[in-house]
Amino acid sequence: MILHPYVGSGQWLRGNLHAHTTKSDGVFQIEELVRNYEALGYDFLVITDHNKITPIENINTEILVLLGSEISTDKGHIVAVNLKEPIKPNQPSQEVIDAINAQGGIAIIAHPNWGENFCHWQQEDLLSLQDYAGIEIFNGNILRDNGSPLASDRWDMLLSRGHKCWCYAVDDTHNELDIANGWMMVLVDEINADSIVKALREGRCYASSGVFFEAIESDETNIRIVARNADRIAFVGRNGRWLKWVNDKFASYRVRGDESYIRVEAFGPHGSMAWTQPFFIVP
Ligand SMILES: [Zn+2]
Repeated sequence: MILHPYVGSGQWLRGNLHAHTTKSDGVFQIEELVRNYEALGYDFLVITDHNKITPIENINTEILVLLGSEISTDKGHIVAVNLKEPIKPNQPSQEVIDAINAQGGIAIIAHPNWGENFCHWQQEDLLSLQDYAGIEIFNGNILRDNGSPLASDRWDMLLSRGHKCWCYAVDDTHNELDIANGWMMVLVDEINADSIVKALREGRCYASSGVFFEAIESDETNIRIVARNADRIAFVGRNGRWLKWVNDKFASYRVRGDESYIRVEAFGPHGSMAWTQPFFIVP
């Protein structure tokens, strides 16, 4: 049996989950930040200043702006989406995750491979922590900082050890260089903040740095993918192993039954990518 989150119909919305303003270490005022994403046709934006919630009243915009925060913990940074009350920083990570969930928020592990040791987060901590929704597998801000913007390696290690969580791509906007490098596409029934949060929590979403999917689906035995602008599609399994790849914008994979999980990476122009959530294979 193939279990995956891309069930039902709806419409795809585009949004950035991680952005800073002048209220922490970003260069944009809140309204400037919102206008930048509005001009690119984004549907939603989450403002995540460090260790605080930046209020967003009095901005007249078409974009849904959600409250959030990037919270420092004893082990690393955690992005909280849909936060209502600020959470005290520098507490144990698990307490911060629990506090985010208690408010109906979504806890996302930030930039695991940031820093000159490529290890903002220790893998053993990611493995032992519970109840975070997922990890940033692409953080655009790290393109111009030490470490790797990618963390699909960390994600495969978690999934391979049975730690189910989702992937997210974000800008981590601090200045103009950070805009529209990484984003989420979420599949929603209705255009409102609750539907976006629900889709992000349930994995009805995919991560992108430039490639768009037009179909992500399965029947009893096959996974089928159509990308708008990819020239390679890869099916990735346990321990990060490529099970199959096709140099085209269409691809399908026939499930054997012993894969445990299969996820899809698509590659497009100028080094761009997109990542589906995992398809879990139940023998
Ligand atoms: Zn950040």
